Amino acid sequence: MSAIVAIVGRPNVGKSTFFNRLIKRREAIVDAVSGVTRDRHYGKSDWNGREFSVIDTGGYVKGSDDVFEAEIDKQVELAIDEADVIIFMVDVETGITGMDEDVANLLRRVKKPVLLAVNKVDNNKRAEDAVEFYSLGLGDYFTIASTNGSGTGDLLDALVEVL
Ligand code: GDP
Ligand code: MG
Repeated sequence: MSAIVAIVGRPNVGKSTFFNRLIKRREAIVDAVSGVTRDRHYGKSDWNGREFSVIDTGGYVKGSDDVFEAEIDKQVELAIDEADVIIFMVDVETGITGMDEDVANLLRRVKKPVLLAVNKVDNNKRAEDAVEFYSLGLGDYFTIASTNGSGTGDLLDALVEVL
């Protein structure tokens, strides 16, 4: 069975954009346990010859900021249970929010590898702005732009290292 990678983070940081860039084929949406799992998208991907499954969380809030923090926490907890590696995505355009800190608090206690991806780094200025994300206490981060793929190669190199 291939390793499972979950992409977590608050709405609108670019999780689905990254997921869609990554996946080669979609799997059936697993409609199981609870409402929370209903809209998790599963796909298959590979990098440097390593195949893995990807979960895009939080699809149910598509394009909306109107989501309870508790729902994000549930998604993150499910991802922690289910995944072998977690990609925690944040957004340099908005900077750190309370929800980001909340998710970081959950992830700091996790024994599984967590890769911090600072998305929407579309230019050099934003690459500099990304340093604020050190304060989340998750160590080093990867700067990426999911819309054009910039920086995603380095992130995926690191990902397959820890699979
Ligand atoms: P999700 O809610 O985390 O799944 O976020 P989405 O993937 O739906 O993206 C939210 C918005 O951010 C969309 O308008 C995307 O086009 C935009 N977005 C995603 N990645 C980037 C990026 O690298 N740069 C910029 N400027 N916008 C991005
Ligand atoms: Mg999404």
